[in-house]
Amino acid sequence: MEYCYDCGTKLVIKELEHEGLIPYCNKCKKFVFPIFSAAVSMIILDKDEKNILLIKQYGKDFYRFVAGYINKGESAEEAVYREIDEEVGLKPFMIKPLKTAYFEKSNTLMYNFLAKCDNLDVKTNYEIDSYAWFPIEKAFDALKDAKLALEFFNYYYNNIR
Ligand SMILES: [Zn+2]
Repeated sequence: MEYCYDCGTKLVIKELEHEGLIPYCNKCKKFVFPIFSAAVSMIILDKDEKNILLIKQYGKDFYRFVAGYINKGESAEEAVYREIDEEVGLKPFMIKPLKTAYFEKSNTLMYNFLAKCDNLDVKTNYEIDSYAWFPIEKAFDALKDAKLALEFFNYYYNNIR
């Protein structure tokens, strides 16, 4: 980040007590911390963790996780329940944070959650082109074109399961 978000002035680097060297705007007289979006993505499973729900959307021909941005004022957990309800009409009985990763393309910090459901009766909204439940071992192949989702799934499969 090179310029002030508010006034466009070129930032200088200045020492901030306890924080180290931080970009600073001489015009606004304030330190400028990074700004990025936050989003959640969900590994949605049945209660026995045998099947995983994947979706296709935005006209793209590959499977991905149900995901969405965290609204201002909302917790990550609230976003998980809201997005799952909106996009696929499910109500998880248990959610659990697994891993986070920064996604450069959209300047987003992605929080990946596990979400377990006992009622698997999916009702998609307009954002979803199609969906499928996969046996969990098939997810590696199904997600091969969704790099970040595959990274999260690998973490779940090798460390959590
Ligand atoms: Zn400024």
